[in-house]
Amino acid sequence: MFEAPILDPMRFAALGEVIEGHGFPGDLERLKGVLHSGEGKFHYRLEGGKALDGLPMVTIHLDGRVLLTCQRCLEGFPFDLEIDEQIVMVKDEAALPELEDEVAGVDVIVQPERLDVAALVEDEILLALPLAPAHAKEVCGAGTEASQQKRENPFAALAKLKKTSGP
Ligand SMILES: [Zn+2]
Repeated sequence: MFEAPILDPMRFAALGEVIEGHGFPGDLERLKGVLHSGEGKFHYRLEGGKALDGLPMVTIHLDGRVLLTCQRCLEGFPFDLEIDEQIVMVKDEAALPELEDEVAGVDVIVQPERLDVAALVEDEILLALPLAPAHAKEVCGAGTEASQQKRENPFAALAKLKKTSGP
């Protein structure tokens, strides 16, 4: 199991604290279900601080690699993670930005009492994954003949997913 601290995010931000650690993709339960296999590794770093407008903020940096399943050939597809996200905390819902004012890489949330770092790390990785991972055509094991089988692949991928994520 992947273990990481549970923080008081307001205090963490106010003190400008830093924590970091690493983990293995196969140890994250929700993530495991969408992976080709649990191999790979990631490193994360959280920093407390203030956003430009003075609001408390936690920045998460995460890098590493996971193994997804290529939708074309169903073999492993290594995917590099490179995540930089700012989590800005506001007092209440009224202070949340309108949808159209949202900025990429900046997440504005109502300040939580506790920040579960393990859950945050898993959420960020899941959000960063491509919807339809696939090798570039030149390196994909399915080659060009596979274009005819393409329609079957989503089902095969699903069957594989069920098999690997079962109890
Ligand atoms: Zn492939």
